[in-house]
Amino acid sequence: MTVPQDAPALAGLADSHCHLNAAAFDGDRAEVIARAQAAGVETMIVVGLDPESSERAMDLTRLHGSAGLAATAGLHPHEAGRFGGAIRESLERLCAREECCAVGETGLDWFKDWAPRDDQLESFRWQLALARRLDKPVVIHSRDAHEDTIRLVEEAEGVRGVMHCFSYGPAEMERYLDAGLSISFSGNVTYRSADAIRAAAATCPADRLLVETDSPYLAPLPHRRERAEPAHVATTLRRVAEARREDPAALAARAGDNTRRLFGLTAAK
Ligand SMILES: [Zn+2]
Ligand SMILES: [Zn+2]
Repeated sequence: MTVPQDAPALAGLADSHCHLNAAAFDGDRAEVIARAQAAGVETMIVVGLDPESSERAMDLTRLHGSAGLAATAGLHPHEAGRFGGAIRESLERLCAREECCAVGETGLDWFKDWAPRDDQLESFRWQLALARRLDKPVVIHSRDAHEDTIRLVEEAEGVRGVMHCFSYGPAEMERYLDAGLSISFSGNVTYRSADAIRAAAATCPADRLLVETDSPYLAPLPHRRERAEPAHVATTLRRVAEARREDPAALAARAGDNTRRLFGLTAAK
């Protein structure tokens, strides 16, 4: 779908998952943040992929705090080959910090399979336990790994958090909702082949629905070939609203509030 250039502006938006800490933004980070604010994005959750990028995420919240940035700390499944004593110590320390609003991203990626599966499972299980222990939400990445993901989530009974960049359908979504998790829809909800994801977006309970960009990695149509940035979350939000036959402005505020509530933020409304 194409969004008319004169579509009414949205307010109260949150990008529930972005990597503003990535080197891809080193040249123009302040401009990227300003464009997001101009697009109505009031909250941006800057997600850590390993201890170093998690530190950078927290540095950014100090530098750009007034823009509604918040940071997480975790070890991405692609990095799980590094999991071990030193990483555990770093993550314990980083995740316990007050400015860290969540543990992750963590999870399982059986699609790219860049780290050994046993390491991914061990790292994910440990971060789920850490989130429970610290009473912070967990940010979960899951690709082609639904059965193993839900099994570990159910083992970690009582864990709170979000399935980020949701890539499954309504039946799988039910299981995560039953486990108490929220669902975050990303740019892939706009792709032509994404009927199952759109069906999930259409039926997700309104108080459990979030939107995100996963920028710089995953741009929504019509920006697919470009570097993604948090301002694009407005495009994804509009596509989700269309699938739900809902007013985009109302959904933007709702999904924004869901994000701020999940991550314990008291950001602008
Ligand atoms: Zn991810
Ligand atoms: Zn991510």
